[in-house]
Amino acid sequence: MSNLSNIDFENLSRDDLKSILECKKEDILELMSLANSKRESNFVTYSKNVFIPLTKICRNDCGYCAFKQSPDDPDAIILMEKDEVLSTLKEAEKYGCKEALFTIGEDADTEPAVKAKLDKLGYENMVDYIYDICKMTVEETELFPHTNAGNFSYEDMKKLKEYNISMGMMLENSSERLMNTIAHEKSPGKDPKLRIETIENAGKLNIAYTTGILIGIGETKEEIADSLLKIKEICDKYGHIQEVIIQNFTVSPGIEMEDHEEPSLLEMVRTVAAAQLLFDEDVSVQVPPNLNYETSQIFLLCGTDDWGGVSPLSEDYINPSSPWPTLERLEKLTNDAGYQLKERLAIYEKYINEKYIENPVLLEKTKRAQEEIENN
Ligand code: SF4
Repeated sequence: MSNLSNIDFENLSRDDLKSILECKKEDILELMSLANSKRESNFVTYSKNVFIPLTKICRNDCGYCAFKQSPDDPDAIILMEKDEVLSTLKEAEKYGCKEALFTIGEDADTEPAVKAKLDKLGYENMVDYIYDICKMTVEETELFPHTNAGNFSYEDMKKLKEYNISMGMMLENSSERLMNTIAHEKSPGKDPKLRIETIENAGKLNIAYTTGILIGIGETKEEIADSLLKIKEICDKYGHIQEVIIQNFTVSPGIEMEDHEEPSLLEMVRTVAAAQLLFDEDVSVQVPPNLNYETSQIFLLCGTDDWGGVSPLSEDYINPSSPWPTLERLEKLTNDAGYQLKERLAIYEKYINEKYIENPVLLEKTKRAQEEIENN
């Protein structure tokens, strides 16, 4: 009898998740098939985006980070100015991009170099600047902002909601223990208490939200199970989590964890299956295709139904050594696995309403773009 037969799939407990995460080779194919049977449709979606790192200065210093720059680095992006952002957005329009992904180091304005530049441009803080950039994006381009910049206060997120159709931040892991390891020991913003509060605040504010976990940074199976259960608990309480990313740690040259081992393909398969089985069908589970260039199809067979943001023109600044697959390649991979590729916006369709987009101009614009996608 299969070792999976003792698991209550309708009501997965911590022990059940742990059993899935430790699933033996003789049960892996059955596990994948069970996870894939939760798929709601034959479509695999993606969002065509442009990745804009407004600043690469960050108050944290994660052991796996390949994004952050030092303000002393002559090539550091201290703060992209509005005209530079606008010209990138206009370029992205030509490629048909709909999502402006603003990824920003956390609390960058605590760094004097960033603060000085904000002062020079007439802004009090980073949140005011992000707000203005998002407003410009909505008013002057065909793109839709999605801001991912770490923790924000309730008030700051409330402000940013006006011009963001969705926001996001990885939980990474709910384990406090990791705050004393190479991964997070120099990153106060990775305190799971803070991150859980931010994700909950997004729920209280009805912001369509993307979060997820990072696999392979020294966590245990129990800690993966706890992290997934925590996201599920918040998701059930507020209903705002549209997507859960299962991201694999990858080595980039020069990072502090350069000698750390990457998670195996089967570890990822088990984790993706666990997430797929835990979350309701309308919460997408996603594995970044650029971090799994050769192996991404296998996750479709575990039920993933989204490729995430895919950029035809910008690099992945978070993982600079991992290029995006082209849309042609993504389509080929999707079709070859028996599914169909479909574009989506940075907000999933079920959230396109007054509750999640209170700004009427932004709501109308989003509805029009959704219609265009449907008609294409
Ligand atoms: S991974 Fe994110 S939070 Fe951590 S140092 Fe890099 S930019 Fe900052």
